[in-house]
Amino acid sequence: MQSRLLAAGLADIDQKLQAAERLTLEDGVRLFDSPDLLAIGWLANREREKRHGARTYFNYNLRLEPTNVCEASCLFCSFARLEQGMPEAYTMSLEQAWDKLRQRGDQPLTELHIVNGLNPHLPFSYYTDLLRGYKRIRPGIHLKAFTAVEVAFFADLYKMTDEQVLRELKDAGLDSLPGGGAEVFAERVRRKICHDKADADRYLSVHRIAHTLGLRTNVTMLYGHIETMEERVDHMLRARALQDETGGFQAFIPLAFHPDNNQMRKLPPPSGTDTLRVHAVSRLMLDNIPHIKAFWIATSVELAQTMLWFGVDDLDGTVQEEKIYHMAGSATPEGMTTATLTRLVRAAGREPLERDTLYNIVNTFETEAIAG
Ligand code: SF4
Repeated sequence: MQSRLLAAGLADIDQKLQAAERLTLEDGVRLFDSPDLLAIGWLANREREKRHGARTYFNYNLRLEPTNVCEASCLFCSFARLEQGMPEAYTMSLEQAWDKLRQRGDQPLTELHIVNGLNPHLPFSYYTDLLRGYKRIRPGIHLKAFTAVEVAFFADLYKMTDEQVLRELKDAGLDSLPGGGAEVFAERVRRKICHDKADADRYLSVHRIAHTLGLRTNVTMLYGHIETMEERVDHMLRARALQDETGGFQAFIPLAFHPDNNQMRKLPPPSGTDTLRVHAVSRLMLDNIPHIKAFWIATSVELAQTMLWFGVDDLDGTVQEEKIYHMAGSATPEGMTTATLTRLVRAAGREPLERDTLYNIVNTFETEAIAG
């Protein structure tokens, strides 16, 4: 491999990684520009195995999106509807939203993942009651809810600070924040594709406050549209800088842009090789974020499985219901069982582990492996 890295012009990056030296913006751009995808994958896999060996995590989760009414107009979004009453617009009553969990009473779920549109017609109590209700129905469930963009929206709409919003949500049962809404941090990109929601500084500030309050969070990056390679690496470096400060991010999640049914439908989706590369470069740049997650709903199940050799150590979870990507044309299933996830991980030569949201191990599947 050394001669291959030399031929690919990556020997100095290899040396830096071996010496645990940080990669720079320029290094990251070179990794995106290099034609030798397998050499980059090899480096990323070495970093992955240094941290996690063959271990591959996923959880038993359920996604819920109680309302898709949203006053923002992100060009890549196929999920949102501007007003209640428009075709496919919906807002669940609290009972309807709680029923989604009640109906899964027989499932050993450990996490609810809840995100919404920015709906200006609901009182703040809708969200706090929503969380309290879920904890009443299942006290042990982990509530990973509301993106930083939603938190900023609540603060502006209900005339609170971001910290007050987070404190009240935490009092109501919030356990952690998902990473959505990050898109690409660069101002140039945000102006074009998501100009009317929280900017990068606000997104990062909400995560900083959440970390200070003891809430763990994730961070995402929407790739494969109009962003440059520099902007991708800059995005990763901004996440890395906040992680240096707080240590509160658990996972970095690259999210593939899907072009169906949105205002960016003329663009092609990212290619498979680009998807492999984005995840691999993420592992290499983000030396301080423990996990790189492949969200199989967005990448395809097959690519997510392949990426377990390209820096990825986490496959999100069972998901079960998903609207955001499926309204944008995703052809993946809406859910997978733990048995399917386990089989996919083992078929890739990796070790499946069911985790909870905070990466405590729930199931090692050892007896099933012995039983064949
Ligand atoms: S991405 Fe989020 S904020 Fe943007 S339009 Fe869609 S639901 Fe609204």
